[in-house]
Amino acid sequence: MGDWCRSDVPPVKALSVLGSTGSIGTQTLEIVAEFPQRFSVVALTAGRNLELLVQQIRQFNPEVVALADPALLPELRERISSLSLQRSPDLVAGSEGLCQAAAWPTADLVVTGIVGCAGLLPTLAAIEAGKDLALANKETLIAAGPVVLPALERSGSRLLPADSEHSAIFQCLQGTPWPDTARLSTGIPTPGLRRIQLTASGGAFRDWEAADLVNATVADATSHPNWSMGRKITVDSASLMNKGLEVIEAHYLYGVDYDHIEIVIHPQSIIHSMVELSDSSVLAQLGWPDMKLPILYCLSWPERLETPWRRLDLTEIGQLTFRAPDPAKYPCMDLAYAAGRAGGTMPAVLNAANEQAVALFLQERIHFLDIPKLIEAACERHRTDWRSEPSLDDVLAVDRWARTAVAEASTLPLAA
Ligand code: NAD
Ligand code: MG
Repeated sequence: MGDWCRSDVPPVKALSVLGSTGSIGTQTLEIVAEFPQRFSVVALTAGRNLELLVQQIRQFNPEVVALADPALLPELRERISSLSLQRSPDLVAGSEGLCQAAAWPTADLVVTGIVGCAGLLPTLAAIEAGKDLALANKETLIAAGPVVLPALERSGSRLLPADSEHSAIFQCLQGTPWPDTARLSTGIPTPGLRRIQLTASGGAFRDWEAADLVNATVADATSHPNWSMGRKITVDSASLMNKGLEVIEAHYLYGVDYDHIEIVIHPQSIIHSMVELSDSSVLAQLGWPDMKLPILYCLSWPERLETPWRRLDLTEIGQLTFRAPDPAKYPCMDLAYAAGRAGGTMPAVLNAANEQAVALFLQERIHFLDIPKLIEAACERHRTDWRSEPSLDDVLAVDRWARTAVAEASTLPLAA
């Protein structure tokens, strides 16, 4: 073929956006709208926000739309019947529908923006279909690392981290020898990587004394100082469980043992994480706290796209500060390390117990300080049923069990 046939126009990457109405989903769609020549949307999935979903269908004209709840399908059908679309999307629902959208044949990359372990089956469907993933839904990897990692290995799907800390690590590691650059994250130890330092803003209670947490309300816990995110992850940031979950996420993604993954409170959220290499060099990735950057990098990798986004100016910030987290103030952190070290089914119990406890807290049925107590009790009870190499069914079973255990325990008087 002659040179005249060669095109310098890069192909448009087609996305399936799971959880399109959430914080990650809407920011992903903002990027697509900003780079229409680079990205398109072929699949959308959502929970209950039909109003926003319909706007997204009008704007992006996907090939398929999946709703978590089949009971909402007739209303969605009714609402989109009045839109003048180039083509009507296929409408599907329920767990099967979410999996169909995740494995949609024309999708090149699946953005996993569903919150919680509800993202597990769609994520596995995407992997089995050989799709590359932009992983935001960390709960899936934490609950089911021993299932997800072998599935990635089998399918050759590439897992690109959208979580800002793991994106920072991933970006820093681009300059080191990878075992296999095509398979990014399979838990295989990364040569030369000695230690990971995950930065944490400290969440809503960063400047509170531990003793004052008895007065913490839902409104207090859901107002994050630096990041605008969904309610569950904002509460996880306030308890530091989010960072604990990210420690387990980092262990599964980069194969680093728990003794070499540390958490450092960095209130400005400018350094998004650091890696220490074997020669003692430390690499960090910096930027304003804006999730669009790590999401964009997942979408454009291995390329860097030109953006008009706000440039980082360190003189504007003045100083970057760091301190060690207080384990007495943030008991969720040690619970996460313990569950991660136990491995097997324990992280699934930790995650499900946390999801259930946070949901009860958001409904004002338990106090903020009850969250770690309920999680600890569930992990403790699970010791006798713990499995080292769980199957998918084992993970789903312990996930269900832990939610019930927390719901039951929360109706009893909680230990002081
Ligand atoms: P969110 O609550 O804003 O959005 C969640 C999305 O999932 C919504 O579209 C919702 O409709 C959908 N959803 C909720 N429950 C569902 C269910 N049972 N089945 C199917 N769909 C369901 O959450 P978010 O803040 O966008 O977080 C999404 C994921 O990304 C979480 O796992 C979170 O830990 C991770 N994450 C988020 C951020 C952030 O800045 N928001 C940063 C890093 C990682
Ligand atoms: Mg994060």
